[in-house]
Amino acid sequence: MHTTILVTGGTGYIGSWVVKYLLEEGKTVRVAVRSLENRKKYKHLQEIAEKSAGTLEFLEADLLKEGSFDEAAKGCDAVIHMASPFKLSIKNPEKELIEPALAGTANVLSAVNKAETVKKVVLTSSVAAIYGDAADMKRKGLSEFTEQIFNDSSSIKNQPYSFSKVLAEKKAWEIHDAQNRWDMAVVNPSFVMGPPLTPHSESESITFMRTILSGAYSSGAPDLNFGFVDVRDVARAHIAALHNQEAQGRFILSNTSLSILELTALIRKHYGKRYKLPHRRIPKVLMYAIGWMFGLSLHFIKNNVGIPLDFNNSRSKQILAIQYTPFESTVVDMIDALEKITLSRKE
Ligand code: NDP
Repeated sequence: MHTTILVTGGTGYIGSWVVKYLLEEGKTVRVAVRSLENRKKYKHLQEIAEKSAGTLEFLEADLLKEGSFDEAAKGCDAVIHMASPFKLSIKNPEKELIEPALAGTANVLSAVNKAETVKKVVLTSSVAAIYGDAADMKRKGLSEFTEQIFNDSSSIKNQPYSFSKVLAEKKAWEIHDAQNRWDMAVVNPSFVMGPPLTPHSESESITFMRTILSGAYSSGAPDLNFGFVDVRDVARAHIAALHNQEAQGRFILSNTSLSILELTALIRKHYGKRYKLPHRRIPKVLMYAIGWMFGLSLHFIKNNVGIPLDFNNSRSKQILAIQYTPFESTVVDMIDALEKITLSRKE
């Protein structure tokens, strides 16, 4: 059993749940933060630690600084490497996405190689490292995406976030395969939803839900499909992957695949008219003309709008024993938590 665990990205949306569950198990959790002075980023974790059996430690480290994680990994039994920017609205994909994802993976795993105590690494990848465009499924002759598939359609120009995830995961496998002391399990979640523990995450998960609730799609929603999964299930999967020796290789974490319109129908069912939600999808031909308003390129529209996608989550159930949270609870718990955060900001 691992007792001292380094978590990178522990201040974030998913990371905060991972840290909470590890603290509840009584573990010593080291959270790497960019700046110890920026207390608001980790205050919520200190509050959780006060009510938990485990011990919480903080160290400063930055994905972009070589050697930055060496001290943090020293003496740890296991490392969960989750830190990576998840932003879709960016100006410089190389600087804002690719460099932190790739350099971060190399720096953290180099620290793992130096710390002789580490036996297990759990890496947070994404289904974005499995597929780039929904059209990849048909192009590859598949009825669903599985862990065997790697995204080969993204590039720095087409879906740079997905590209950053596939580069980072491949880099991690390369470093893992060059040694034989530590094992690695990779968690590949689809679009994560559910309640945030931190009010300060800049995750696209939060931005996406806030955009929907703001009424941005009220006159019509792009016909886009996503796999969705609860943040608490993703956190539990990281912990199961850490403890279970058989957990090696990749694990898709995805509960259900829905369109934006199906998601907003679920929200309407629970919140009635409180939010201005769409009643119709925007036809694909019209999307070609107005897609730029949503920041969508013609290539993206052609290969994603109106195209279904599905994921095989059987490994997560069989090996990690994940019992997926009903998606309605995921959505309701998320909106309730976001409403509380908005209220507390007004007070
Ligand atoms: P958040 O933005 O909430 O978390 C990102 C974390 O990474 C934060 O703790 C952030 O630290 C840290 N980080 C970012 N850049 C750096 C840096 N240069 N140096 C050190 N730390 C850094 O996003 P999520 O929780 O949503 O994402 C966490 C991981 O999960 C990412 O790897 C993402 O790709 C992956 N993922 C997310 C999905 C989702 O739907 N949310 C789906 C699939 C995968 P700080 O607090 O200082 O900002």
